[in-house]
Amino acid sequence: MFININNFRLFVSLFLCVFFVILPELCLADRKQRIPIGAIFHEYNMEMEMVFRNKLNYINNLYEEPYLLIPNIQTVAKVDSFKAGKIACNITEDGIAAMFGPQNDECAGIVEAICYNLKIPNFQTHWQPKKSTYQDAAKMAIKLYPDAHVLSVAINDILKTMEWKSFTILYEDDDALLRLQEVFLDHKTFDNVITIRQLTGFDYRSLLKEVHESGERQIILDCNIDTTVEVFRQAAEVKMTGEYINYYILNLDTHTLRQELLQHALTNMTIISLIDPNFGEARKHIVDEWTMEMPSLTLTADTIPTELALMYDALDVFYQGLKMTDSLMSLKFEKVDCNPKSSINRYGIDTWTDGEQFYDVLKKVRSDGLSGPIQFDENGYRTDFTLQIMDISDDGFRQIGTWDPTNGVSRTISEEDSLAQYSAALRNKTFKVASRIGEPHLMWKNESAEGNERFEGYAMDLIHEISKIIGFKYEFYLTPDNKYGGLDKKTKKWNGLIKELLERKADLAICDLTITFDRRSAVDFTMPFMTLGISILFRKPVARPPQLFSFMAPLSVEVWLYMALAFLGVAFAVYIIARMCPKDWENPTPQDPNPTELENIWSLPNCIWLSLGTIMCLGCDLLPKGSSTRITVVLWGFFALIVIQSYIANLTAFLTMEKMGDSIKNAEDLAKQTTIKYGTVQGASTANFFRDSNFSVYQKMWSTMESTRPSVFVDGNAEGVKRVLRGQGTYAFLMESTSIEYVTARECELTQIGGKLDSKGYGIAMPVNSPYRTDISGAVLKLQESGKLSTLKTKWWKDMHGGRKCDEDPSSNAKEENANEMGIDNVAGIFIVLVAGTMFAIFILICEVLWNIRTIAVEHKITPTEALKSELRFAFQIFNKEKPAKPYTPSEASSDEDTRSVAASVFRSASSFLRLDNIIEKKDN
Ligand code: GLU
Repeated sequence: MFININNFRLFVSLFLCVFFVILPELCLADRKQRIPIGAIFHEYNMEMEMVFRNKLNYINNLYEEPYLLIPNIQTVAKVDSFKAGKIACNITEDGIAAMFGPQNDECAGIVEAICYNLKIPNFQTHWQPKKSTYQDAAKMAIKLYPDAHVLSVAINDILKTMEWKSFTILYEDDDALLRLQEVFLDHKTFDNVITIRQLTGFDYRSLLKEVHESGERQIILDCNIDTTVEVFRQAAEVKMTGEYINYYILNLDTHTLRQELLQHALTNMTIISLIDPNFGEARKHIVDEWTMEMPSLTLTADTIPTELALMYDALDVFYQGLKMTDSLMSLKFEKVDCNPKSSINRYGIDTWTDGEQFYDVLKKVRSDGLSGPIQFDENGYRTDFTLQIMDISDDGFRQIGTWDPTNGVSRTISEEDSLAQYSAALRNKTFKVASRIGEPHLMWKNESAEGNERFEGYAMDLIHEISKIIGFKYEFYLTPDNKYGGLDKKTKKWNGLIKELLERKADLAICDLTITFDRRSAVDFTMPFMTLGISILFRKPVARPPQLFSFMAPLSVEVWLYMALAFLGVAFAVYIIARMCPKDWENPTPQDPNPTELENIWSLPNCIWLSLGTIMCLGCDLLPKGSSTRITVVLWGFFALIVIQSYIANLTAFLTMEKMGDSIKNAEDLAKQTTIKYGTVQGASTANFFRDSNFSVYQKMWSTMESTRPSVFVDGNAEGVKRVLRGQGTYAFLMESTSIEYVTARECELTQIGGKLDSKGYGIAMPVNSPYRTDISGAVLKLQESGKLSTLKTKWWKDMHGGRKCDEDPSSNAKEENANEMGIDNVAGIFIVLVAGTMFAIFILICEVLWNIRTIAVEHKITPTEALKSELRFAFQIFNKEKPAKPYTPSEASSDEDTRSVAASVFRSASSFLRLDNIIEKKDN
């Protein structure tokens, strides 16, 4: 017979296979103890069943192990608890060592009760919000999912390490509230604000937006895994993701969302899981096997879903328990009736005889599974477990700590390392920097340019310097409302730069933005880069144009009038008194002791002359003799003394005041008066300083400012400065000292009045909990220490845009130098009075002369011209002290002679003055 060599080879291979592989297997299987087990999985939960079978095969294939696990695996709809009960009965009736599943509360409850009745251990792997309602039933259950109460404690312990002052809980179903019960109990003192919102429907945007608008940045999220993905997708749309938002996600399966959450890697997420992200080779191998068996299962060793891991571990615990019974007992399996108390008990056995003993052994199993260390309490609850605490980075989830009941939270990554991660993230980031136009912090450089090229200023330079230290890019933009950031107390809404930060439109806000308590509660600030205080911007005191009759100013018009009255009154009183006073009637011829008539020199003109002489300090050649007249004159002298001294004192003060201008020296002076209006930037920190101040002067100033119409508030410093300039000393602007310094260096007629009313600083603002704050603050500190901040200040305050203008203003210096001299303007009025008085005297003289000429002409029967000539003839003989009583007439000399005679007499007078009298006399003779 011919044998084909190929057929022969095939035959030999088959023989070897049967002999060495299948036969030993069969023999071994026969040798192994058959252990029936039951499992109920949900329909469509293929992964769970696959994992179960995989582990089962693994155990059964262990050559040296004496057990062969024979599974009875059934599936049931999630909500069909009735069918689940029936299936459980069918499985248990055949006699099993343990029941696995099902995986939800509805179906698990009935299966748990059946297992309890029949004393069959029941492995459960799902979350159970509360202890079993069948108090004793739990005693046959082995619960691999962490105990609800201990999990709640863990959640709270981890939350406490985050030190959140307030947070919002977003939950999906009511079970979440049980997971959070410890959190609620711990916060019952209402130290912290907790907001609880339920996620309903499919569109969470409006809810997330509301949370966003409330300013909440700390969120505890408790929802199922699909909802988590959706929440993050929608949160990104409403800007509720990013580095300033913190999420604490309670779903233990969040680690499976590596791919989905990676795109939100900048968001601060804290997640908890039973699965250690630092997997070993063994775990990788297990997952490889799973994915080989089920290619649709896209898993990695660190993204194993919790329940899969728990089912895997459940089988492991069962198997460990089985091995432990080996030395203690041998298990016998009997058919048991599912309804042992019913009248028809088909098998006559109520419970599995070895069940309770086996259950006790199972509870003692200690194992290290995919879900970490496993240990049960005496009721079969997993109260001792380790939670992995993770955050997300560009590489996926990263373990930052662990929690276990004994040690609580232990960090595996220091805070510094976490911050270092953010510092690294900074390098790739382009910061959106919100600002507003305001000299010298940000000014237009080229409005038609693009991006940062449009602006220049101190703020730009500062951010540039910081970016050089840290290494980030930046892009400046202006706030739409050009406001700093004020809180509307009614609507609780912010405007300006603060609003931009709260809405996450900006990462940083910089300008002359003052660090205030209110703002600090809404945003974070770096350390101050400039310190300042509120002060007053006002016009420099301008010397008022001296008034012509300013010598009258020291006394009011009334006083002048009363003085004139008093003067006339005194003159008249002296006149009356002197007429009556006997001593003032004198003998006109002293050589005649018995005169027939007495004379009184106190005519009214003389009395007026006396009063005038006294008050003008002229003294008087006529003096009264009577005591009463003297008393009157002395009192008038006393009156004159006081009035004149007061006048001189007041005149000095008036002249000084004219030079110094207005007497506003500080805020108190402003508060005291009403002529000069004063205001601030509307709704900014200076206005708020006055609004919130408890100091009475500032309170008064605030109410004055509020009630003044038209409004004294302005939109920005530039407008305030313009108003001071235009106001010509009628408007003062309460402004920050650094801005005053900038303005007064350029507007030479403006100055700072008084010192600073407070002390504060400008800071760079950023959203609360910004991970970049430490870095940016550090950079500001470095710039300060290196002197860069003061260099920048000198550049923008002094060197740029005419900052030294007022240092060089010669007119202001000259004015100051001459400040103490009195100009002609100050005394012009007195000159005018003098000239006017003299003119008046000349006028009177002319009248007197004319009258005299008339009198002479009538008396001596000459013409008025002759009388005038005669008078002039002697008037011009200025050195001639004598004049004939009779007038000189033309009949006495020809007109030539007249002329000669006039000339001669003029010459004579001059000669006599020069002591040449004798020479002339001789020549004449
Ligand atoms: N720096 C102020 C602020 O941040 C604005 C100017 C002011 O109030 O004087 O509100």
